[in-house]
Amino acid sequence: MKEKKFLGKIRQDPFEALAKGPKEVMASLWQEYLQEILNATQKSGRFRLVRQQIEDKAGFPEIYREWNQMDLEARAAAWKRLMGAAKDVLWAGWETCVRCGECCELSSPTLLAPDLALFQQEVLTWNEVYTLRPGEKVTDREGKPSTLAAERLKIREVPGSSQCWFYLAANRSCRIYDHRPEQCRRQQCWSEEAEAPAPGELLTREALLAGVPEVWELVQAHQERCSLGRVRQALQGLETDAEAAGEALFDALHFDHYLRGMLQEEWELSPAAIDFILGRPLTRFLQDHGINATLTPEGTFRLTPRCE
Ligand code: SF4
Ligand code: SF4
Repeated sequence: MKEKKFLGKIRQDPFEALAKGPKEVMASLWQEYLQEILNATQKSGRFRLVRQQIEDKAGFPEIYREWNQMDLEARAAAWKRLMGAAKDVLWAGWETCVRCGECCELSSPTLLAPDLALFQQEVLTWNEVYTLRPGEKVTDREGKPSTLAAERLKIREVPGSSQCWFYLAANRSCRIYDHRPEQCRRQQCWSEEAEAPAPGELLTREALLAGVPEVWELVQAHQERCSLGRVRQALQGLETDAEAAGEALFDALHFDHYLRGMLQEEWELSPAAIDFILGRPLTRFLQDHGINATLTPEGTFRLTPRCE
């Protein structure tokens, strides 16, 4: 007579389910167990990596293959082997980064004061970072939008994505891992209490440009005429005092454009390095506020509403 298939609810009595259930039931219980102890979703890179390590250690494929033929005692021993491997792997690496690369895919790090040394060691150059000035709109890893109160220097992202410039997706590795920035070292995806760096901890252009006063002077002149606060104020004033607001807006746009051209043509700096020195072009900031600023052949800007 054909043996009756176990159809009991695995959640109701996991021990009975393990004793009587086929390999699919065992795999399902194993999955639930891992999810619970790792406190991570199945889709996360961390979950996949730790699971792989545990299953390699315990010989999960072999257990799965032979499960249906195992008697009660063998099943208990196999399950114990899985638990033991989980304990060994987690005790060795619990609350440590398993280098799954998920955080590197989600965003690039903000640079902190200790990262100044990375420029001195030439691990980083002006070409690999960019500046977000106060007033820029940003979204955090959870997608929550906010407006920056303080300047931030960030590692560039791979164009068209949020992936860090130094991340190699093919083998999930960091090109500068031994010299990775401070925020990457502090990253603890397993902790809900990870705090954002305090304003005093942030690396600034002022600190980075201390040895090149001629560039720092340019930054200050740019900030005076093209600060995002001034531009935002001008945008708000367009409805009440269009002439004065328009004048301030065009002054900022032209100065920003002029300085970028000068840094590129006369100082021969790359567009990436210019985005570090001056922050993102004002035209990009206006785009985020629904306005296209286009340069006409006469060399003046024309503003039009942005069509999505
Ligand atoms: S810190 Fe980043 S790389 Fe490390 S385990 Fe967490 S998500 Fe993966
Ligand atoms: S610098 Fe390296 S560790 Fe840090 S986010 Fe980029 S790829 Fe990841």
